[in-house]
Amino acid sequence: MGTVMLGTEVAKAMKERLIQRTEALKERGTEPKLAILRVGARPDDLSYERGAKKRMELTGIGCQVVELPEDVSQRELEESLKSLNRDSSVHGILVLRPLPRHLDEEPLTRIIDPVKDVDCMSPVNIAKIFSGDASGYAPCTPEAVMEMLDHYGIDPKGKKVTVIGRSMVVGKPLAMLLLGRHATVTICHTRTADLAATCRDAEILVAAAGKAKMVGASMAGEGAVVVDVGINMDPEGNLCGDVDFEAVEPKASFTSPVPRGVGSVTTSVLAQHVVRAAETLSGQKRV
Ligand code: NAD
Repeated sequence: MGTVMLGTEVAKAMKERLIQRTEALKERGTEPKLAILRVGARPDDLSYERGAKKRMELTGIGCQVVELPEDVSQRELEESLKSLNRDSSVHGILVLRPLPRHLDEEPLTRIIDPVKDVDCMSPVNIAKIFSGDASGYAPCTPEAVMEMLDHYGIDPKGKKVTVIGRSMVVGKPLAMLLLGRHATVTICHTRTADLAATCRDAEILVAAAGKAKMVGASMAGEGAVVVDVGINMDPEGNLCGDVDFEAVEPKASFTSPVPRGVGSVTTSVLAQHVVRAAETLSGQKRV
């Protein structure tokens, strides 16, 4: 029986550290603030927004939601983003995505001020992740995985790490963050020839495929660390990850559950980015 890696515990520890930083900022006259730009009212967006607002509140960060109608024009959307760039009371900007089909996300990635781009939308921040420049902001989910590993004292240095999934939101940037910490990284995807063997060989396995319970006991090595990023519904309509937790947990040294795993850390990383942006913008640099 291994250790269950609870994201809720990680978030609690991060909260304490963040509160100290927000208090220091406030003492110097800066009220850190996140602006969330939302078009329409998709249930997924509203749910993420609620989580983000609550986390900002818990850590002493202000949160302003800019809500635009579902049929907003590209031009109006771009103007809203530009005005948030200019607003000196706003330190971080989160654009909820995907946008409605009539809108183009690409121009927004170039408009958003990279310093305020707390969820890695701008090509400037993406390039920084891939070039190993720590002054950028990684997407929140991959960084949440790193926070989980750090909290539980798991150093990826020199270890064989397999990541299932090669998306630009999770798999690829996570592989870069792990490489930056000197792991030996293998990225798997739908066309990987022997997925099970590659996964079994890993000392750290991260599942980010979006396939309910696809990682069973035969895919996890004895004593491996298994981190589950997936958010899926099982046939009974319950939230579950990409890992079959009951099957894998007895074999692994560390296993993260879903829910209460990586997903519980994502908004804490967002809060951390807003604080860092506020520190940078107010001249108190801290990376
Ligand atoms: P995506 O669909 O963009 O990418 C999935 C990747 O997994 C692809 O690269 C694909 O090649 C690979 N893949 C899919 N099925 C596979 C299989 N059977 N074998 C091997 N590889 C396979 O998804 P995404 O946006 O990267 O998200 C991945 C998962 O993480 C989803 O379940 C998503 O809901 C979840 N997610 C969680 C958070 C969080 O906060 N915890 C945030 C973002 C995404």
